[in-house]
Amino acid sequence: MQSRLHHHVLVLGTVLAALVASTAMASPESTAAALAKKAQDTSLALKIATDLTTEIGARLYGSESEKRAADWAVKRFKKYGFDKVWMESFPVERGWKRGLETASVTSPSPQNLVITALGGSVPTPEEGIEAEIALFKTIDAMLEQPEGSLKGKIAVVTQAMVIGGYSKISGAIRSKGPSEAARRGAIAFLMRSAGTDNDRMAHTGGTSYLPEIPRIPAAALSVPDAQQLDRLSERFDNIRIKLVLTPEELGTVTSQNVIAEITGSERPDEIVLLGAHLDSWDLGTGAIDDGAGVGIVMAAGKLIGDLPNPPKRTIRVVLFGAEEIGIIGGQFYADSHADELANHIVATEADAGQGPVQFMNIGLENTLDPSLATIRNALQPLGVKAGRSKSSGGPDIGPMHSKGVPAIGLSMFTDDYFDLHHTSNDTIDKIKPERINQSAAAFVVTAYLASELGGYYRIQP
Ligand SMILES: [Zn+2]
Repeated sequence: MQSRLHHHVLVLGTVLAALVASTAMASPESTAAALAKKAQDTSLALKIATDLTTEIGARLYGSESEKRAADWAVKRFKKYGFDKVWMESFPVERGWKRGLETASVTSPSPQNLVITALGGSVPTPEEGIEAEIALFKTIDAMLEQPEGSLKGKIAVVTQAMVIGGYSKISGAIRSKGPSEAARRGAIAFLMRSAGTDNDRMAHTGGTSYLPEIPRIPAAALSVPDAQQLDRLSERFDNIRIKLVLTPEELGTVTSQNVIAEITGSERPDEIVLLGAHLDSWDLGTGAIDDGAGVGIVMAAGKLIGDLPNPPKRTIRVVLFGAEEIGIIGGQFYADSHADELANHIVATEADAGQGPVQFMNIGLENTLDPSLATIRNALQPLGVKAGRSKSSGGPDIGPMHSKGVPAIGLSMFTDDYFDLHHTSNDTIDKIKPERINQSAAAFVVTAYLASELGGYYRIQP
């Protein structure tokens, strides 16, 4: 009896020990899978994006509403139990506020045009500008014109954006177009929207001016209006347009990054960074750009923080300010955290809409690090494939990546992104739960495994 009891106790002891061991030593992979399931079951990313875009609305850089969004984010991070939450403010030189914006063809066949000012544009005189247009079907055709050849005209570039061609349009046309037109004598600049939709709705976006060239008013036409001008210009000479833009330049304004951490238990100094940007353009409510990203990374951080055991490394979530006018928050972070960048194990950002995440691309030195293979395998059940492109992690991660921080790019499906991007139609109803939830799952898996695994993949500075 006694020996039998003894035997039972032994067996029970062994079973208990095994149970305890299996709980204590749940593999990082199984915890990551549980986190992915939770991201999908709770729909937390969508809830956060909905709350942000409803309670705050649009969040233009340097505005009172961007600051309200930052206060909102601080409160939300605290409510979600993050260990440290703080804000870092910085100046933005080109404060700006949209005004009235109208345009119409005045001759030969008067008709209204749908436009929106490019962010940072100077105003027209209050009564507007009325002039003949010089229309170019490509930016290169405009650049071929000699200096002075567009004197007194409104330059119009109707080049279409092709899928995957956003950076060409946003860089060569939206950003540099106004100064290049002014260099040739133009008094205003109109471009076909950088967008892939056919809606009568214009896409804004930041422009910039070269020094020592007159700064001229600049706006985007909706795609159908740009096509209308193409047709008009095939039928008539001497088309005249009247343009009224009354934005205000506000000089230097203040923006801020909001930072929140789940402190690591074993290597608290080592940071896994998840980013998104809190600012948005002012036309919609910034749901896909970048309320979705805010929801995705905030949810990922919270779900990791809710685990019974803290992660080994610190998870740092950064909501960047003033991304849209030139990645000011991302640059400020890289500069002001220069001393600690060597402790950043890896960084990634959600700034391409709702997802789903399709590919994992990497921007790091040791691409054969076994922990990367583990992350890749863990992403597979979510439908995420190994990508072949090199990634800088996302727009706000770019500046720290160029200073040596390893990056992972979780590249998202952007089928609808450039239909809605920077328009009044960028609102929360466009986000599908299953899409954003898959993205949150992919980000939480990546962040959690990066906090637990080897991570010997730093770029040598
Ligand atoms: Zn964005």
